[in-house]
Amino acid sequence: MAHFKFLANWMFIFLCIAVTSGASTAPYLPPQKEDVAHWNNLGQDELKATLEYTPNTNVARNVILFVGDGMGVTTLTGSRILKGQLKQRSGEEEQLSFEKFPYSAMIKVYNTDAQVPDSAGTATAFLSGVKTRRGRIGVGPGVPDNNCTAAQREQLSTILDWSRAEGKSVGIVTTTRLTHATPAAAYAHVPNRYWEGDASIGPAGVGCRDIALQLVEDNPDIQVLLGGGRRYFIPNDEPDPVTGVVDKNNGRRDSRNLIEEWKADKAKRKKARRVVFNQRDLNLVDTRHKDYLLGLFNPSYMNYASQRPTTGPTAEPSIAKMTQKAIEVLQKNPKGYFLLVEGGRIDHGHHAGRARRAFSETLAFDEAVEKAVEMTNQNETLIVVTADHSHTLAMGGFPGRGNPIFGLDFFKASDGKPMTTLLYGFGPGHKSPREDLTNVDTASDMYRQQSAVPLGSGTHGMEDVTAHAIGPMSHLFRGVKEQNYLAHAMAYASCVGQNKAHCKPTD
Ligand SMILES: [Zn+2]
Repeated sequence: MAHFKFLANWMFIFLCIAVTSGASTAPYLPPQKEDVAHWNNLGQDELKATLEYTPNTNVARNVILFVGDGMGVTTLTGSRILKGQLKQRSGEEEQLSFEKFPYSAMIKVYNTDAQVPDSAGTATAFLSGVKTRRGRIGVGPGVPDNNCTAAQREQLSTILDWSRAEGKSVGIVTTTRLTHATPAAAYAHVPNRYWEGDASIGPAGVGCRDIALQLVEDNPDIQVLLGGGRRYFIPNDEPDPVTGVVDKNNGRRDSRNLIEEWKADKAKRKKARRVVFNQRDLNLVDTRHKDYLLGLFNPSYMNYASQRPTTGPTAEPSIAKMTQKAIEVLQKNPKGYFLLVEGGRIDHGHHAGRARRAFSETLAFDEAVEKAVEMTNQNETLIVVTADHSHTLAMGGFPGRGNPIFGLDFFKASDGKPMTTLLYGFGPGHKSPREDLTNVDTASDMYRQQSAVPLGSGTHGMEDVTAHAIGPMSHLFRGVKEQNYLAHAMAYASCVGQNKAHCKPTD
């Protein structure tokens, strides 16, 4: 009796808290009845599929590497729940497209000089196979700050280089700038990631070549380049070809128009080359007749997926559309291709402390992966999906099943105020005293989740990220691995680079 009374009291308190804490938004419901039989059947189905899976030991003709910048494990969980809840389901049972891949690994992300890494050092690791220092692009860990003589001495080649050396086609897609850390690490060699254009190189780097220049001068054979960052390719006294704005600060000081230079191409492949600046023009590209495609869709970063302009001269393609066009161009090469696709603005959503932005970006990235899976054959194309690093997004509290992912917890915090189930460790969402969220729209695109420590921009996370793989040699992607391992495994799988003893001679 006493026990029942205690339980009844507890239930009463629980209901009061639930009502007063603003948890009025109804939870989403699971898609089916989840009884004992359901869970037993699901477990047996998953066991059967896993037992039946045999490793695919083919050589990968093609490799597509998808990188979700800043896409840590909590981002995957939250985005997966959002994906389900957008379909009016509870969400926890949902899967991102790459979560269906047969193999996955945990990846250790530290840089050689930093526990919490940056995108330059991490991208260099998974593209070149060598870990390096924070801020370095395509150069080894022995290169001091801003020292381009040392950078030249310790240049690293990448899977993009190894692939084109075997006659494969190569391409890069990003939602950031084509000169930003992740894409740059595939083709450039600089001791300072911020040297995206010549105007960004200060007195410390006199005589050094910027990233945009290296892209056009040293890499005329990258067949597909789609992303943002137009400003680093245009002289600082010339108007932007779309907005008409002259960018005195970021435009080129050397008066070179690198877009025109890319189009002219010394190797006389001009006819097969095409430059596009918006969604419409990209859609109109006949990929059967174009072998070289440069798309620069924004002077700087492309817009967040949730704010993407879709009409007029500034309309931007989705990451899924860019991925589709890239594959169409590259897949014409019978020797195969290597394609890098970066969902680069997941990271920016997190830096701004806006989880909804980061999750929406992750869902746009998820669609791009789905498009690639749909367009390729698992017998010949290895697809790897990973992140460069995480962020300090935490998720917890006491939310019930189907609780809206951006919503409030059932319980109030010990300061008597409501709390969200998503929080950041560091970031701009800090207020002291803690804000009362009773009448705040915590599901808004602009809402900043509260952070424990105030910082103008959230920091990256320190913990491992995941890698998911499907296709030839995808069984190499398992266990807990160092991040540089990814380049070695992709190279082995596609018979490029140093380790080719297992490769059959091609006819
Ligand atoms: Zn970042």
